[in-house]
Amino acid sequence: MHTLSLYEVKSGLLSKKFSSVEITKCFLERIEKYKNLNAFITVCPEQALESAKQSDQKIASGTAGEMEGIPLVLKDLYMTKGIRTTAGSKMLENFIAPYESTVTQKLLDAGSVFLGKTNMDEFAMGSANITSYFGKVVNPWSKEKPLVPGGSSGGSAAAVAGHLCVAATGSDTGGSIRQPAAFSGIVGIKPTYGRCSRYGMIALASSFDQAGPMAKTVRDAAMFLKIIAGYDEKDSTSVNEAVPDYESFIGKSINGMRIGIPKEFHMEGLSEEVEQSWQKGIDILKDAGAEIVDISLPYSKYSMAVYYIIQPAEASANVARFDGVRYGFRAEGAKSLDEMYEMTREQGFGDEVKRRILIGTYVLSAGYYDAYYSQALKVQKLIRQDLASAFEKVDAILTPTTPHSAFAFGEEPTDPVTMYLNDVLTVTANIAGLPGMSVPICLDKLGRPLGLQLLGPRFQEGHLFQIGEVIERNANFPSLKEIN
Ligand code: GLN
Repeated sequence: MHTLSLYEVKSGLLSKKFSSVEITKCFLERIEKYKNLNAFITVCPEQALESAKQSDQKIASGTAGEMEGIPLVLKDLYMTKGIRTTAGSKMLENFIAPYESTVTQKLLDAGSVFLGKTNMDEFAMGSANITSYFGKVVNPWSKEKPLVPGGSSGGSAAAVAGHLCVAATGSDTGGSIRQPAAFSGIVGIKPTYGRCSRYGMIALASSFDQAGPMAKTVRDAAMFLKIIAGYDEKDSTSVNEAVPDYESFIGKSINGMRIGIPKEFHMEGLSEEVEQSWQKGIDILKDAGAEIVDISLPYSKYSMAVYYIIQPAEASANVARFDGVRYGFRAEGAKSLDEMYEMTREQGFGDEVKRRILIGTYVLSAGYYDAYYSQALKVQKLIRQDLASAFEKVDAILTPTTPHSAFAFGEEPTDPVTMYLNDVLTVTANIAGLPGMSVPICLDKLGRPLGLQLLGPRFQEGHLFQIGEVIERNANFPSLKEIN
């Protein structure tokens, strides 16, 4: 039962093959059994079983919502009323939000069951889920050595890949849905900026952050996105555009569609096997009747530099609210107000958060603002123009999601800049505000998953599902049967 897709669970529940209580129990047992993955910060068995019971009644009375009774998990930066929300930080270790985020409210309204809140890099800063105050997350695909699941939505990725839930929410500022999806052999989509409401999500970089689904199949991701997308008056950056029936794109032919292959993404540092997996994707799309078009995105080589200026700048402003006064942790023993701020931030934040605050405040400081921050905004415009002209020629762009497969603990890059290079292929979508999806393509020689990324024009998530499903159907990616 635990390996079923969201689509299959939905039909199993509606045809009363099994009940929501049964499948919820099954996942709760697996969560307990695979505790060593450390995928969860908070598990809520009582609440989950209670809402599963209510769902079973709704199904029986014919009033089921679109996600009725389906057990999901939430990255621990979505505010959930009454359940603690930590963002993976000591700063919010005991924080219980007084309100519900829009995305999770929509899922609740549709009848979903929440099993718990998943582990993540502290304040979503990271690419390996090794910066969480609540410890590292282990990739369920680990064999001879424990592997990282990717980050920052590493707990959600591990929970989906390890079949500890049906699907999960993630969030993506620079790749945090797509990169862990690729490392963990699952599907993840970062929608267009503005497609989902950010209300009630703890912010990393507000102009890049987007909510999105992490799921077992492309169809599941499409079904999930339909529920959480849409305009919200509580988030002025959410866009008032109709939400299409994304599922209707599944199974449609891609004959005649034009797929761009950006030459700049054949970059140094891509492993040989990643290059081969990219070719496998190209061949699949060609065989399905798509036209492959060579394109150029000349400014994309500056994406990393732009991202690691704008993102820390915004992050440093966003985490400024954690000062020991209004939320969460406050250090004891300070002799003055200034000392209280300093001690709280010194003790409450981990190293990566401090590093981003230092970079962010530096690039925003009076002497350097023009050289860094305002320059980065100009280059961002050029990157956006690059993509806009590419999308005059092609319907979507295909690239690898990551430069290599998941690395083992202890083999992770020790210097932060090499770690940041994990996002070299994903940040462009955030900088340009475009939708991006990762779909599993194959395992490498070590048996570690690799993913391919599809990028599309604004609000063309439907085409990404359409093309992604063709890749999925032809890739024969093996689903993880059991965890070692
Ligand atoms: N790994 C990237 C970073 O550390 C992306 C994070 C994210 O998308 N939340 O900033």
